[in-house]
Amino acid sequence: MKMYKKWHNTLQIAIYGKGGIGKSTTSSNISYGMSSRGIKVLQIGCDPKHDSTRSLLKGVTQPTVLEALDIKSSEPQKLEDLVVESSCGVSCVECGGPEPGIGCAGRGIITAMNELKRCGLKKEDYDVVLYDVLGDVVCGGFAVPLRKEYADVVYLVTSGEFMAVYAANNIIRGITNHSGDRPRIGGIILNCRGMEDEDDLVRRFSEAVGVPIICRVPRDPLFAVAEKNGVSVSEMFPDSEPAVQYGKIIENIKGQIDGSSVCYPADPLNDEELDRLLKGKEIVRDPCRNCGKIRIKPSDGEACAARAAAMSLSAIKGLTIVIHGPRACGYNMANIRDVHFLGDVKENPDLDRTFSDSIVCTDMDDNDSIFGGIHKLESMLERLCSSGIDEIAVLTSCIPGIIGDDVGTCIETFRKRYPGTVILDIRADGNLSGTAFDGIRMVRNALVSLVDRDVVPDDGIVNIISNTGLNAGRDRRRLTELFGCMGKRINTILFSDCTLDQVRNCRRASMCYAISRRDLTPANRAIFESCGLKVSDILVPQGVKDTVSWLERFKEPSNASDIDRYVEEKTDEYRKMVERSKPVLEGKRIFLAGWLDRPMDWVADALKDAGAVIVGAVSMGPIPGRPFHTDRHTDVPVVEKTDSTSVLGFIGEHRPDLVLGGIRGGGMCLGFKNGAMPSSSVSIDASTDLLEYVSNLIRAPVCSSWMSERGSQ
Ligand code: ADP
Ligand code: MG
Repeated sequence: MKMYKKWHNTLQIAIYGKGGIGKSTTSSNISYGMSSRGIKVLQIGCDPKHDSTRSLLKGVTQPTVLEALDIKSSEPQKLEDLVVESSCGVSCVECGGPEPGIGCAGRGIITAMNELKRCGLKKEDYDVVLYDVLGDVVCGGFAVPLRKEYADVVYLVTSGEFMAVYAANNIIRGITNHSGDRPRIGGIILNCRGMEDEDDLVRRFSEAVGVPIICRVPRDPLFAVAEKNGVSVSEMFPDSEPAVQYGKIIENIKGQIDGSSVCYPADPLNDEELDRLLKGKEIVRDPCRNCGKIRIKPSDGEACAARAAAMSLSAIKGLTIVIHGPRACGYNMANIRDVHFLGDVKENPDLDRTFSDSIVCTDMDDNDSIFGGIHKLESMLERLCSSGIDEIAVLTSCIPGIIGDDVGTCIETFRKRYPGTVILDIRADGNLSGTAFDGIRMVRNALVSLVDRDVVPDDGIVNIISNTGLNAGRDRRRLTELFGCMGKRINTILFSDCTLDQVRNCRRASMCYAISRRDLTPANRAIFESCGLKVSDILVPQGVKDTVSWLERFKEPSNASDIDRYVEEKTDEYRKMVERSKPVLEGKRIFLAGWLDRPMDWVADALKDAGAVIVGAVSMGPIPGRPFHTDRHTDVPVVEKTDSTSVLGFIGEHRPDLVLGGIRGGGMCLGFKNGAMPSSSVSIDASTDLLEYVSNLIRAPVCSSWMSERGSQ
């Protein structure tokens, strides 16, 4: 019975190991050996060093696939230029790669493989395809041949040097990530360095990971002799000890084809076990090490940093945003801005179109990610700057950071070439583990660096701090009225509705007031305070009660009458709205779900004033906790657990007429009328607006068909 289950007739093997350990030497020797035993072999060198096939080709380095691609000849590449046959009958390919320090060699391997396929390379024409792969596994690209569609069997080359064993262990880790449950490790090839204790360390490693050593190639001066002659040891000295040892690998490979050899599962050592191995201590493996796989759940804020940065930048009027990255990133960033704008329009009908409408993208492609893409950023900046655009933000997505594009020098060059042009440098690149908050922070830091320190604060002027929670239009007017009655003028809204010029002059304000508690985190405060701005602890008030007591604190003889007039006028409007809403809201059962980082007292106040019943409330996030700030609403049951099962369970039991606010994982809260919690209203007007909004929600048809359970089936 065959043990090796093949899904194609060609056996694909990968030779992995640390750089310089002897992979190419091993590969060439076994390719030669197989070929001379009548097995048809294709050897693909996947090391940018491109010296894999040299000792098969009389010491000549063959042209690489990526070299040919980079030349970008108009003629399509021909397969016979890329595949060279050795005198012993081995077909040889070198993928090649970029110069060290530029671009991404890993990505190059993927491209080279695709190119070979496009040129018509048929793996089925061979009995064995052998990949010679650099195994200091630094990135996913190097792991490509580990993937199922490439290597059926992986051999690990190591010496007894710790770094070589360390690399071998990392390769096993890479295999765990790619192969699911099927065992794919063929064995360990011990290529001796000639050190003391070498055999012992590799033997202990082999036992610990459960993969046998299939051959032991001695350190031998014959290698140097053969290398000088441009041939493999097996060819030049067929009876030597190395040639005999390579024969064992070939036997193992033949066994993989006919089913008599076994493969071993990937079971890498953890860091502590590696450390014990190195120190010669006994390795006791945790029997539960493979018991459970951990799934990562995204949490709030763990979105793309660059995307969040693009959104923050979009709020700056007149700024041209250059996305240095692939077109899909550009699309994503432009799209999030549009989505946000449309969302704001929904809640804020008299919204001004204030966001930056010019996002451009350098459209990096495959070639740029291998060979570097800075030239695209240069030509984009040249185009913009030479056409007189003088307020630019360069925002990098992951690729430039990963491949090492020197964006800083490029921006510096253009700043010098076009003095007076502002070019913000927002480097969200390579920040794969970064969060949305990182992106926002980067933008804020960049903006703050523009602030003019010589501007003198004026007592009658304030700034509003709000990232994106607030919009121009209605809210801006509300704020102007509120601060106006206190005798204060609003300088600007940082950084959601302002120009770069306003940012420069933001120190004119004597105090900054935040809309949301999120804007008052120590990190955010530090950003504003770093440019000498004063930030108040008190948030801009929301709702009747908070606004009235807030204004009380600012009352002085000089503004008392204005404040009184404002309060009277606004509460009068509110009372009228309460009366208008009562016929609609009286007795209606409402569930509140706050996603806001502000308490919901004011929402409950207004709804209760209009006769509604609050059946329950939950505060979901980003800062979960008590939904109410004061003890005005102790009668409202609070759902403590914020997971969707608990919240939907509660809602299902109490069957409210309206769920106000979004529920995590709850979608449209199937079968219930559901409306978003208004996010950015301020002052007494917030309460008035809320009643009008909720009345409209209640008046709307019970459920659109697409929202009901039947409709969704
Ligand atoms: P890799 O492909 O892993 O980077 P190479 O196969 O190019 O490494 O080997 C690096 C050098 O070590 C070469 O000069 C090779 O001839 C030499 N070498 C490899 N194995 C042995 C050995 N067992 N004894 C002596 N020299 C060796
Ligand atoms: Mg090599």
